[in-house]
Amino acid sequence: MKFGFAILSLVFLAQPSLADDGCQFSHDWTCETQNIPDFWDGLNGVTLQKELAKPEHFPAYLYKPAGSSHTKIGRFFIDRRYPVGPIRCEHFEIHDAKSDDALKWESLDTSASNVYWHLHRAIDYFNRLSAETGEAIYQEKRPIVIRVHMDTDWAMWIKFTNSERYNTSQTFPDVEPEKWGTPEEQREIWFFIPKRHLMPKWVIARYIPGLKNTIFGTTGFPLDSAHVPSIIYHEWVHLMTRQYLGIDKDTPLNEGYSDYFGSVIWGRPAMGDTEEFSSFPYDRDFAKSPDQIYADDVKTPGDFVPRFFWSLRKQFGPRVDALLWKSLKLLSPKSTLLDLPRAILATAGDRSFAPDEVAAMEKQMRRLFTIRKGRRGD
Ligand SMILES: [Zn+2]
Repeated sequence: MKFGFAILSLVFLAQPSLADDGCQFSHDWTCETQNIPDFWDGLNGVTLQKELAKPEHFPAYLYKPAGSSHTKIGRFFIDRRYPVGPIRCEHFEIHDAKSDDALKWESLDTSASNVYWHLHRAIDYFNRLSAETGEAIYQEKRPIVIRVHMDTDWAMWIKFTNSERYNTSQTFPDVEPEKWGTPEEQREIWFFIPKRHLMPKWVIARYIPGLKNTIFGTTGFPLDSAHVPSIIYHEWVHLMTRQYLGIDKDTPLNEGYSDYFGSVIWGRPAMGDTEEFSSFPYDRDFAKSPDQIYADDVKTPGDFVPRFFWSLRKQFGPRVDALLWKSLKLLSPKSTLLDLPRAILATAGDRSFAPDEVAAMEKQMRRLFTIRKGRRGD
């Protein structure tokens, strides 16, 4: 145990910035990291799943050491104690699927403990961002319900809903509003286990209305999204940006903000990265330079917004986080992608960016936000 902790500390010293490991909380619950699987075991996703199933790793969380592409397991304690009772804090409580009661720590549910850990990392991040921007960020103190192991058994067996097809998770229920309530009164985050994905491009059924959302147009995509830190952060960001960008429709702006801040909290310009958990890896790379937009980018979410935000961060550093956050005040659920440059420039003109920096941003945005002909290639 000591040995594992020593290795983790070294990783910290080597790469202190944006590392996705260890106990970096600034608020009042404490944690420790122990039982790190040894290096060679950690290379193997099968071993990882086996390790996750062992109670001695509980409460477990998953992380990738900086500079490594392999997921490892940490273990944490709350107030230096092994937690007992309902999995609940002032911000949220975690339920198993459609259960009305919160899961207990005694259930040894590693999806729940992983979500608990990573949501607290997200909350911690927003506390810091709030201090940096001098603006209050409301972090759900109702508390809201988080559901893990959500299944899709309420739908017809052959006709898949949107959430069953793509979503690894979602921030509010839209399948049966009369049962689950409207987004405003019933905000929840659901983490699904089985999902579906459109068939490869050469399968004609994926294009045919009436067939495309069935087993003929889609293929299985088994993944417990509660195991994927970047997805957990992404969903929490939706709740944080909700008052500015809305939450009931997935727009390029609200998805882009969730992709960006989710990946910033994760510490890498990417989203997903699930090869150790799924036979159908979900992986998006935001490190590439953004291309000038197509009309599709204005209508449907994609990689443009997170790539554009990360390109600003690369150029101007982490103060871009505060810039983008403050720009939200000039956006609304009705805003489109084309309203973004004005919001960013007006915010940057305030203080923290020099006139020549604002001018450089403006020049870059004038090019990137001019719609070009054709369709984007995804
Ligand atoms: Zn989203």
